[in-house]
Amino acid sequence: MRSNYHTHSTYCDGKASLREMVDFAVAHGFTHLGFTGHSPLPYENTFSIKDAQYLDYCNEVRALQTEYADRISIRLGLEIDYVPGLCEDFRPLIEKGGLEYCIGSIHLIPNPDSIEYLRSHPAEAGDHLWMIDGSRYQTYDEGLERHFHGDIRRGVRAFFDQTNRMIESQRPTIVGHFDKIVMHNRDRYFHYDEKWFLDLVYETVQLIHETGCICEVNTRGIYKGRHYDYYPAKGTLRHMNTLGIPVIVSTDAHMPEDLLCTEGAYEFLQEIGYKNVLETL
Ligand SMILES: [Zn+2]
Ligand SMILES: [Zn+2]
Repeated sequence: MRSNYHTHSTYCDGKASLREMVDFAVAHGFTHLGFTGHSPLPYENTFSIKDAQYLDYCNEVRALQTEYADRISIRLGLEIDYVPGLCEDFRPLIEKGGLEYCIGSIHLIPNPDSIEYLRSHPAEAGDHLWMIDGSRYQTYDEGLERHFHGDIRRGVRAFFDQTNRMIESQRPTIVGHFDKIVMHNRDRYFHYDEKWFLDLVYETVQLIHETGCICEVNTRGIYKGRHYDYYPAKGTLRHMNTLGIPVIVSTDAHMPEDLLCTEGAYEFLQEIGYKNVLETL
């Protein structure tokens, strides 16, 4: 069985059409494929599905679902950005699109002091958010300086606070890459095993455990050469196993070939005796 439930396309920042992703998956023996485009956001940006195209995305996934029903099980999902002041309620998107599941992720962090301003000026959001993802670490450095005066602990705490609020209030089907804040850090500002950082990681793990959300094991950092570990990290996964948290391996594919890049995640989970590995939703 081969599956992937975290898949992008040209509707957002992916490099292939929905159909191209499906054809590649079928040709490589996948039995399950879930699409999770980046959710529409109320300001101009280069990575999310445009609001005006949201229903086209949903309808096209559903059409493929029917067309390919005898070859592969396709699911309609969305990777929804939780941004205080901008997108705090997933339900309208879930209901409007008739989504079958969602991944809740944090890529954009406002300084807590600017949340109220954002609420009334959503179109200006691009100037008020720390973008922690993307291909350039310089963007991370500049955003940290601009929105958190270079105070890494404050920025990281805001990231985890935001993550925790999302998990508690939205209970996404899958929690997306919840320690990705380490990617562009590149062990410069802090190390993963520092107590203050681990405390934040473990607090979020505890919340995932209590809410019963599934957690992904995201391999994208490794095959893109941006990071040396999964999200969440191997040590964190060992801890999560003691709590029995269900995990699902995802490649966060942006082009067809990415679908194959599981980077030894299944083997690693087996090696450490991870008990609750899901292969389908
Ligand atoms: Zn993401
Ligand atoms: Zn993604």
